[in-house]
Amino acid sequence: MTTLKPLLAKNRSWALQRRERNPDYFEQYLHQQKPHSLWIGCSDSRVPAEVLTGSHPGELFVHRNIANMVVPDDDNLMSVLQYAIFYLGVERIVLCGHYGCGGVQAALGLPASPLAKEDSALARRIAALRSGLQQGLVEYHASAEEEESSKLNRLVEANVIAQFAQLVVCEPVQQAWQAGQALEVFGCVYDLQSGHLKELIQQSAEESVP
Ligand SMILES: [Zn+2]
Repeated sequence: MTTLKPLLAKNRSWALQRRERNPDYFEQYLHQQKPHSLWIGCSDSRVPAEVLTGSHPGELFVHRNIANMVVPDDDNLMSVLQYAIFYLGVERIVLCGHYGCGGVQAALGLPASPLAKEDSALARRIAALRSGLQQGLVEYHASAEEEESSKLNRLVEANVIAQFAQLVVCEPVQQAWQAGQALEVFGCVYDLQSGHLKELIQQSAEESVP
């Protein structure tokens, strides 16, 4: 049987180290949070938002789901967006995908997968991911001579671009831009091998409001 003990032990030692380095570490954000950025990323355990950006508590407001999807009828994500933009006043949204994304690979292999015959939350999400990736899939299948890994990397990037396109037109972002709120939106990809985050696309109010 597993227990919580290893996690509790690491938690206590982390809290102790933080307080030793800065006695006010936990005090400073005790009564309010003022994160500078909203992070929308994949749930993948190898892509931990705070760790890979060197962020401390209070810096990132975070939403993660499988394959960093932005679906307008997803109340979970939309409520996070609304709260981050209008209540917390974040100045930046980072949408982050990553190479080696299992969600993107599942979308690619969906027709032949047992998921295709399933009616479950996971099957519905992967089907939605696949239908939003049509252009990327066409390019994937068109480049037969390219190495599999680089084709997959390009499909991951296509997913970031597709989710980014959904993000910049969704209501909270559009409302903020129309109201003149300073808000920059970035689409990035994270490389598991190098640990590097790379910017793929960026948009701000000026490019959006005619
Ligand atoms: Zn992923």
